[in-house]
Order: sequence, then structure tokens, then C-alpha cells
Amino acid sequence: MIEELLAYQAADAGLKKIESELAGSEDRKKALAAKKYLDGVEESVNKLDARAAGLAAAYSMLEEEQVKLKEQESEFVRAAGSVEDRTEAAYLLKKMDELAAKIKIVAGKAEKLSEDIGAVMKEYMRIKNETKAAQAQYAENGKKYNELKASFKDERDKVESELKKLAAKVDPALMERYLKKRAGKIYPVLYEVRGNFCGACNMELPMSELGKLKNGEIIECDQCGRLLYQKPKK
Ligand SMILES: [Zn+2]
Repeated sequence: MIEELLAYQAADAGLKKIESELAGSEDRKKALAAKKYLDGVEESVNKLDARAAGLAAAYSMLEEEQVKLKEQESEFVRAAGSVEDRTEAAYLLKKMDELAAKIKIVAGKAEKLSEDIGAVMKEYMRIKNETKAAQAQYAENGKKYNELKASFKDERDKVESELKKLAAKVDPALMERYLKKRAGKIYPVLYEVRGNFCGACNMELPMSELGKLKNGEIIECDQCGRLLYQKPKK
């Protein structure tokens, strides 16, 4: 039973090698990075839209305030034309000073808001350019990665058909256990125990588990997740 699985595992090295080369491909990494950016860009744009809308609303409120202040200013100027005594003139001057101070504050706020709006526009441009670059990167590196994948096709088909033949000889339940581990990126999956220790990570195995080995069962290492077997004594 174990011999068949060991034969399968030996041939599986061919598949693992192809998978590792594909996984290590720079083009794949670049295409994935570009895709990640593109997937997240909508959220960035939405956030920016919300910020832009907030700034635009604040700006139009300030504009309204500026119009009102200008109206008050005109009223004071008109009133100055018909001042009757020094007390009234002094009062009016004081009011005009206060108004001038308010106008200055509002103008300062408007200037700050314009700067913020300018920064948001810049951010839009930055995102637009980055998106273009990411799209180009995704297209280019994705294409190269697909070419690399295609270049392995024949080799992969060969290994897979070999594995299919070998898998047919393995106990199905055991094969399933192996493939589950393999899907979790473990390779090699199957190790021989070394005395009372895991042959892969050297963890000491509990007696209860070791007992099962003697009956020809395959156990699992708690630490590294490998499947363990014991060679039958001849
Ligand atoms: Zn282990």
C-alpha cells in the first residue's frame, strides 16, 4: 500500500517542480500586484469622491457667506454717507473693522479649501495614472505568465497522465489524504518515521500514535502536518 503511494509521490515531484517555477515567476507576481491594485482602486476613488463632495459643499457655503458679508459692507458704506454725529461715526467705524476682520477670516478659509480641492484633484490624477500603469502591467505580465504556463503544458500533461496511472494503484482513502495535504502546499507529503520521531520535522510522536504505525496505519504529525509511515519489518 505504501509502496504505491511512495511511487506516486516520487512522480509528483515533477508536478511540484512545474508548480514552483510558475509560482516563482516574476511575471506572475507583477500581474498579481497589478490586479490587487486594480481591485482596490474603486474603493480609493469612492473615498476621494466623498472627500471632493464634502469640500465642494463647504466651498459653496463659504461663497454664500462671502456674498452676505459683501452686502453688509455695502450697507455700511451707504450708511457712512448719512452719518449725523461723531458717536454714530465711531460706531460705524467699529462695525466696519469687525466686518473687515470677518471677511479676512472667510477669505483665509476659502484659500485653504481651494488648496485642499487642488490636492484632491492631484490625487485623482495620480490614481488615474497609476490605474493606467497597472492595467498595462496586468496585460503585459499576465500575457507573459500565460506564455510561461503554456510552455509547461506538454511536460505537465505528461506528468499528470503518469500520476493518474500511479494514483489508480493507491488506496483511494489514502490517496485522498495525500492530495488534501498536497493541496495545502505540503510536499513531500509522506515521510518515514525515524524511531519515535517525525521524519520531516523531528517532533517526538505520542506512543498512542506510534502504536498505530505497527499495524501498518499511516499517522499524521501534529507539528508539520506530514503523513508518516513505518517500513514493514521483513
Ligand atoms: Zn513533523
